[in-house]
Amino acid sequence: MLDEAGTRRRLRITERLPGRRIRVDGADVVDFASNDYLGLASDKRISAASQKAAAAHGFGGSAARLIAGNHPLHSELESAIAKYKRREAALLFSSGYLANVGCIPALAGKEDVIFADELNHASLVDGCRLARAEVRIFRHRDLDHLQSLLAESAGARRRLIVTDAVFSMDGDIFPLDDLVTIAKRHDAWTYVDDAHGTGVLGETGRGSAELFGVEAEIDVLMATLGKALGTSGAFVCGAQTLVDFLMNRARTFVFTTATPPSLSAAAIEAVRIAEADSSMRERLWENCDYLKKRVSQGELSRRVHLSDAAGHIVPVMIGDSADTTRIGAALLERGHLVGAIRPPTVPNGRARLRITLGADHTREDIDKLLTDLSTELASRE
Ligand code: PMP
Repeated sequence: MLDEAGTRRRLRITERLPGRRIRVDGADVVDFASNDYLGLASDKRISAASQKAAAAHGFGGSAARLIAGNHPLHSELESAIAKYKRREAALLFSSGYLANVGCIPALAGKEDVIFADELNHASLVDGCRLARAEVRIFRHRDLDHLQSLLAESAGARRRLIVTDAVFSMDGDIFPLDDLVTIAKRHDAWTYVDDAHGTGVLGETGRGSAELFGVEAEIDVLMATLGKALGTSGAFVCGAQTLVDFLMNRARTFVFTTATPPSLSAAAIEAVRIAEADSSMRERLWENCDYLKKRVSQGELSRRVHLSDAAGHIVPVMIGDSADTTRIGAALLERGHLVGAIRPPTVPNGRARLRITLGADHTREDIDKLLTDLSTELASRE
C-alpha cells in the first residue's frame, strides 16, 4: 500500500561533512535537506564543550530531573535560554516533539477549547489530541477565521491558540503581532512553536517573536535546540509561574530521564555563539536573498513558493507523491540532497520538495541546484 501511494520511507545512512556537504549511503552531495541553518551542528566549539563536560561529569542522565537528575548544567542552560529569549524562565525537554505533547495537555483539558492552525506540526497536532480539549482548526494563517471561532467559543473555561511561528514544510510565518492582539481581545492564551525561527529570524536572531516585537507577549514560547542551534532537545519559556507549573504537570518532563549533562554544555555554547556571532546568520540571509532573486526572475517561480519570512525553507510544489520521490532521487544523482516530503507530513496531493538553506552554502551550490531542478522539472512537463 505504501509503495502504491509512493509514500514508503526508507532510512539512508547519512554523515555530516564540512561545508554543508553530506554523505548519503556513501555518496558525497550538497545538503539542502537538514535544519542546521547556521552550520552549528558540526561546530568544533560545541563538540569541545560537550566532550569536556562528558569527561568531567560522565555521560548518563541517570534519573528524572525531579528525582536525582538535575545537573547544574541543565539549570545553567535554562537560565541562558531565558536570557536569550528575554523571558523570566525556561524549561528543557528531551525533544521538541516531547515538549509539545507534554505541555499542551498540561495547559488545556476537557473544559477548554484549543484553536489550531490547519498546517501545525505533527507534534502540536498530537499535543492537542492528547489534551482532550475541544480542538477547533482554523484555515492556515487566516486571522478572520480564527477570530470567528474564538467568538463562537466565548463560554469556554480557557482558550488556547496553538500555532507554528515558521511552518516547517511551507516556510511561511504566522503574523505574531496580530496573533497577540487577537488573543488579548478574546482573553485567549498563545502557544507558539518557534522551532524554525529561533537562531534565524529577528534582528539578533532571537526568533520570530523578536521579528514581530512581541517577545514579552507570547504566553508560551516553545523552540528546539536541534535546528539552528545545532544540538538536540527543546525548551519552553515564559513567566516563572508557567515554568513552575509545567515542571509539575508536563508529563513528558516529569516522567522521563534527564538528558546528558554534556548535551546541556553543548547547548550553552550554541546559545552563546548564536548570540555573540551574527556572521553565520548574515550569510544565511544573503543566501536566502540570492535564491529568492534567482527564482523570482525565472521559470521556477511558478513552482517555488517564496515565503514572506527569511526564506530558509523553500517548498517546491509537485503534488504527486511518486513524482516527488522520483525528482528527489534524480536530484540526489546530480549531487543535491533535498527533502522529498509526502503525506502524512503534508496533506494529500500536496507533496513537495523541501529545500533548506544554510549559512555554509555557496552561490555555486545554489546555482547548480536551481539549474538541475529546472532541468528535472522541465523533463517531466
Ligand atoms: N516543531 C516543529 C515545528 C518542528 O519542525 C519539529 C521538528 N521537525 C518539532 C517541533 C519537533 O522537534 P524535535 O525534532 O526536537 O522533536
